[in-house]
Amino acid sequence: MLNTLALYGGDRVIDQKFKKYNSIGAEEIQAATEVLESGNLSQFLGCWDPDFYGGERVQKFERASEEFFKVKHAITVNSWTSGLIAALGAIGIEPGDEVIVSPWTMSASATAILHWNAIPVFADIESETYGLDPISILKNISPQTKAILAVDIFGHSARMDEIMDIAQIHKLKVISDTAQSPGATYKGKYAGTIADIGGFSLNYHKHIHTGEGGILVTNNDELAEKMRLIRNHAEAVVEDKGVADLVNMVGFNFRMGEIEAAIGIEQLKKLNGFIKSRQEAAHLLMTMLQDLPGLKIPTVSEDCTHAFYAFPMQIDQSITGVTRDQIHAALIAEGVRISNRYQNIHLLPVFQKKIAFGSKGFPWNSEFTKRDICYEKGICPVAEDLQDKSFIAIGMCFTEMTFEEVTLIGKSFQKVWSKLHLLKKT
Ligand SMILES: *Cc1c(COP(=O)(O)O)cnc(C)c1O
Repeated sequence: MLNTLALYGGDRVIDQKFKKYNSIGAEEIQAATEVLESGNLSQFLGCWDPDFYGGERVQKFERASEEFFKVKHAITVNSWTSGLIAALGAIGIEPGDEVIVSPWTMSASATAILHWNAIPVFADIESETYGLDPISILKNISPQTKAILAVDIFGHSARMDEIMDIAQIHKLKVISDTAQSPGATYKGKYAGTIADIGGFSLNYHKHIHTGEGGILVTNNDELAEKMRLIRNHAEAVVEDKGVADLVNMVGFNFRMGEIEAAIGIEQLKKLNGFIKSRQEAAHLLMTMLQDLPGLKIPTVSEDCTHAFYAFPMQIDQSITGVTRDQIHAALIAEGVRISNRYQNIHLLPVFQKKIAFGSKGFPWNSEFTKRDICYEKGICPVAEDLQDKSFIAIGMCFTEMTFEEVTLIGKSFQKVWSKLHLLKKT
């Protein structure tokens, strides 16, 4: 029965459980234990004091991150969602300002904008890098636009040169959500370090993690200090620190603990190795899938390296003769862990109903907000088409992706492709 599709009762290609991806080892256990034994689980003080900048491990992790990413400032936070909020506050967002953002991302990229009572405007993506399409950015710029929030999704950078050029011409700030792309490079620079502010998520399903956590990176001294203030109760500190610019200085507690920082220090040392193993797995998979008609494998731009947080693909139904969802179902039946969607953030209820803070439509319904922003289906045709028809992806940080695992995934694809004519009949 090996030749019959598992969808129709044949044997599955993958009959074993793959080994869970686990980046945590003896070094992290040792580092965390040392913190526990010290009794100092956090050393932040929310007042103007040397400990305003955090404890020994927090500061050590930040210096190590600066060295790793070759950037002037690294600022740890308790999640990357917090990091995005701090970044937007630091660039001086005003209520009613518009920020152009990708719809093809995790929801926090867009909702971080709402937290400052500013308005997310969704530009479309392009289907090669899955990053913001520079032409669509231009179409969405208005007199209210303050910033561009670009996302380096799946481990590959957006077209940063074009995005930075647009920002310069229109006097906009750029924030890079590089949560999924730590260690990826664009023209020799690390993802996240090209924009005014970038950064990484350290949640438990990213390449490296600390349970929860995030790292902000910037080369700008002023933005760095503002983010450190927002991270740690700015309003209580500004007077003693002598801060004159009070814009967005109502702070938060976004502080990272010493245990997380101690784990982060060890994780960072392993990042290059984790990326290398994802890249090797991805290249093997590319070799096995590259000749399957109607299947588009990931593009790696000439001037980029891909961190392969995910392995994104597209199915062209006009070539396969069957739908993406039929192929997806057949692959699932063979035992492949694979997804047939990602995100169309503009279609979430918060944007469709325009209800964020309170019940009266704030911040869209406010005197600060100058124009009506459309979130209807149709505003991002590329992202919508990917979601509805063609996109399919394998997460690269769920399982170890050993040579054997990847070979089985490749064989599952080859089997399904050899039987596409059978799917056609259904
Ligand atoms: C994971 C992720 C986030 C959120 O990071 P957290 O650390 O979970 O808050 C934001 N944007 C993208 C693209 C992500 O993948």
